[in-house]
Order: sequence, then C-alpha cells, then structure tokens
Amino acid sequence: MPANKKLLVLPGDGIGPEVMYQVRRLIDWSDKRRRVTFDVQEDVVGGAAIDAHGVPLTDAALDKAKNADAVLFGAVGGPKWDVLEFKVRPERGLLKLRKEMDLFANLRPAMVFEALADASSLKREVVAGLDIMILRELTGGIYFGEPRGITTLADGTRRGVNTQVYTDREIQRIAHVGFELARKRQKRVTSVEKSNVMESGILWREEVQKVHDQHYRDVELAHMYADNCAMQLVRNPKQFDVIVTDNLFGDLLSDAAAMLTGSLGMLPSASLGPADASGRRRALYEPVHGSAPDIAGKGVANPIACVLSYAMALRYSFDAGEDADLVEAAVKRVLDGGLRTADIMQPGKAQVGTKVMGDAILRELDKLAA
Ligand code: NAD
Repeated sequence: MPANKKLLVLPGDGIGPEVMYQVRRLIDWSDKRRRVTFDVQEDVVGGAAIDAHGVPLTDAALDKAKNADAVLFGAVGGPKWDVLEFKVRPERGLLKLRKEMDLFANLRPAMVFEALADASSLKREVVAGLDIMILRELTGGIYFGEPRGITTLADGTRRGVNTQVYTDREIQRIAHVGFELARKRQKRVTSVEKSNVMESGILWREEVQKVHDQHYRDVELAHMYADNCAMQLVRNPKQFDVIVTDNLFGDLLSDAAAMLTGSLGMLPSASLGPADASGRRRALYEPVHGSAPDIAGKGVANPIACVLSYAMALRYSFDAGEDADLVEAAVKRVLDGGLRTADIMQPGKAQVGTKVMGDAILRELDKLAA
C-alpha cells in the first residue's frame, strides 16, 4: 500500500472527538505495523467550526475533503448551537459536504455480532450472524423531484404533491455501486422498487437489469417489490447480501434494518460520490449516531460505530479488505470477551468506558496481527 493515501478526519462535536480519538489510535497502529499508511489531516466541522470560524464548514475544510481519498466524520450538533438560525447550524456542515462531494450512494450495513444478538428486537436465531448492506440512492427521487408543493385549488381543496423521478443515468450509477459492493461481499444483489404500481419502478428494474447483463454477470441479481422487502427484512433478513434501492424506500428499509442490530452505538455508514477517470470515488464515512450531548465529556460513549466506519473506509476507499477484516474481527473478539459500553450493557458483562474499549480493540488487533 503506497504511503500517499489521503485521509481527512473531521471529529466534530459532542462525543464525535471522543470516539474519533479511538480511531486515530487505530490509524497510528496501522502506521506502525506498516500495513496501511495514511497522510492524515484533521479539521473542525459543525459547532466546533462555528466557534472557531463562524461557519459550520470552511471553504478550506471543504477543499481538503474534496481532495482526500476518504473523509472520516464524527458527529455534529449540540444544545449550544440550537439557538442559531437553521442555515448556519452545525448540521449544515454535513449537508454541505454531502452536496458538494455529490455523495449519491449511501451504504448502511446491518451487522449483528454474535455476542449482541440478544439486543435485537427479533429472535436470536433470526439475526445472529446477520451481515447485510443496504445501498440507498441519496440525491434523487421523490425528496427532490419537481413539481412539489402544497396548493389550494379553485374549490378550496388543498393538494400536496411530490414527484418520484429518476433518470436512467441516476439508476445506472447506483446500480454500478451495488454490483461493485457485491463483488467484495457474497456477490448477490437484490434490487428493490415497486414496478407493479410505479413507472419509475419499471425504469429502475429495467436499468438495473441492463447494467447487470452488460457488466456484472458474475453477480447474482434478484428483483423484489419494496413492501415484500420490508416483510422479508423482519422475517428472514439473512437471505440478503446487498439491497439496492431508491431514496424513499432506502430511507425506510435502512432504518428497519438498523433496528435488527439493536444499538445506535454500533452502526457505521458510508456515502460515496461518482467515480473519476481513475475510478476513485469521493467518500465520507461516519457513525449513524449523532453527537449525544447527554453523555458527551463523560468518557462513556461507544466508539464501535466510528471504528466500524473506519473499517468501511479501509475496505471501500483503500481496497484494504484484509485490514478491514482485522478491525472487525478485533471488535468481535472484544465483544465475545464480555466487554460492553453502557449502551450495549447486558447482565453478567463488564461495563467499560470509551478508552478501555479502544484499548481492548488495539490489544486484540495486536494478537490478530502477531
Ligand atoms: P444521538 O444519536 O446523538 O443520540 C441518541 C441517543 O443515543 C442518546 O441517548 C445518546 O446518548 C445515545 N448514543 C448515541 N450514540 C452513542 C454512542 N456512540 N454510545 C453510546 N450512546 C450513544 O441523537 P440525538 O440525541 O437526536 O441528537 C443529538 C445531536 O446530534 C443533535 O444536535 C442532532 O442534530 C445531532 N445529530 C447529528 C448527526 C450527525 O452528525 N450525523 C446525526 C444525528 C443527530
């Protein structure tokens, strides 16, 4: 692995810096062990950037993000900045990054570690060992389609309109990401829409099938209606590998899948942009959780969502799948060994804080890499 892999770290606010610090320790570990060496830059975002520069994201930080191979993002926001106008709030920093980096592909894995299978709302046997990926189109569809709005008709009736709209190109580019992901996993894609009742769904199905037939015949492709997919996710989620779907269905299905895993403190995510001529994609990796002001500064936050986001960066931006496997295996061994942060605490287990959890992950990495 060459030494010039550029990583921008944006810890943000609240527990963001606390959990990101544990990731910095893993990055240093990689550096020392010479497996993956990064050129790491760090900057402020969110409330921290408002305090330092008066804006939630400076142009300089945005430039660094655009030029990085991957951005690792902690979390932003907190009561201190809630009094500000919406357009200058900390969350705008993240929204601006997503927009300016054209992050159209949102990856939300739902992974259930054996040791935590009892934390799910479903039965252990349904979720134990679950490892699926929901890929949601993030910049098109009904949340952006025109016409939209609320109008009052001549007879006084009020009418609300949103438009589900996708072009063939938008569908093709998300399909490519889905098939590429599947190639790094179990090589199975389920494309989800409602082509039984929606024309945009018919187009979705046809375009995904075309991309498959032209480029990814080595990957198995199935099509499923979104309502059936919701049902299958709670009936037998392990049947899936990669689910690729639109913005609206992805919003709902990824939240449903997230709850299969039990805890917010365990959930990583990634957002990818279009590939450039060299095949490199802009990418941002972040835990699904927010800045958790209620526990910030107490040293009790669970760093695992952030650690697993870093593992995703290793796998998807740096093609370092083996190193990602190592990090995930270290997390698994720590959980199997009975250590828990407060959010995932179970009877008979040992409750630890953020730093001790980080120490334990590093210790397991040392053993695994020995
Ligand atoms: P949150 O995710 O910050 O917290 C929800 C609950 O989960 C809290 O009780 C919190 O203590 C707990 N929790 C979250 N992450 C945890 C972790 N790693 N370990 C242990 N417990 C954890 O959501 P919220 O309370 O709705 O929002 C708090 C702030 O975060 C708000 O300002 C919100 O706007 C912001 N937020 C930011 C992002 C982001 O940066 N991507 C996402 C969601 C919310």
